[in-house]
Amino acid sequence: MNYLLPILAVLLSFIFVYTTKPKKKEGIKLLLAFSGAFLLALTIFELFPEVYSNGRTKTMGAYVMLGILLQIFLEFFSKGAEHGHVHVDKEKKEFPWLLFISLSIHSILEGVPIDHHHTMLYGILIHKIPIAIILSIFLINSKIKPLNAFLFMGLFAIMTPIGTFLAGNVDFLATISSQLNAVAVGVFLHISTVILFESSEGHKFNLGKLLVIIIGVIIAYFL
Ligand SMILES: [Zn+2]
Ligand SMILES: [Zn+2]
Repeated sequence: MNYLLPILAVLLSFIFVYTTKPKKKEGIKLLLAFSGAFLLALTIFELFPEVYSNGRTKTMGAYVMLGILLQIFLEFFSKGAEHGHVHVDKEKKEFPWLLFISLSIHSILEGVPIDHHHTMLYGILIHKIPIAIILSIFLINSKIKPLNAFLFMGLFAIMTPIGTFLAGNVDFLATISSQLNAVAVGVFLHISTVILFESSEGHKFNLGKLLVIIIGVIIAYFL
């Protein structure tokens, strides 16, 4: 399940966009706001306590900061695709390598906490669906060949399970698992807070978004 569900979430989102060609952006924005709140809350409820439980709080804090900085660095190349932005030129025909590589590094890291924290799986699934929908809309409307678009989404789909697999099966990675989890916490903190920040466009009050954000936090609390 840990491997299969993230793959299905991405592929089904792609098929959904390919077959229905969704026009309404409002639903996706609500889902994105929900996913940001849900992921942030799960990170704080689930991963925070464990990352700091070994008592080396400052060292672990440094790894969390490293994750935040790493994510900021990755977004120079992905232009924010991890939190629901695609700024890559639609007219380009070439395979978007920079976007692909930065998204892959992000997604592999994201898979690490799933190995030991089953509830994080739900947070990542809910986070992946709007991102996969937004990426699919971009790829399908771009000049990139359909085969390459499918290849992009297929490879993107397996990156998180690869991260989960490596975290659980490579001895060396197991010895640094708390550090890796702390880096993942930083990545989640960055993307989820950016999602929440960007979902309140111009700080205008939006009841729908506020509600889905509160619901996201409450569900995460009781999981
Ligand atoms: Zn952004
Ligand atoms: Zn992600």
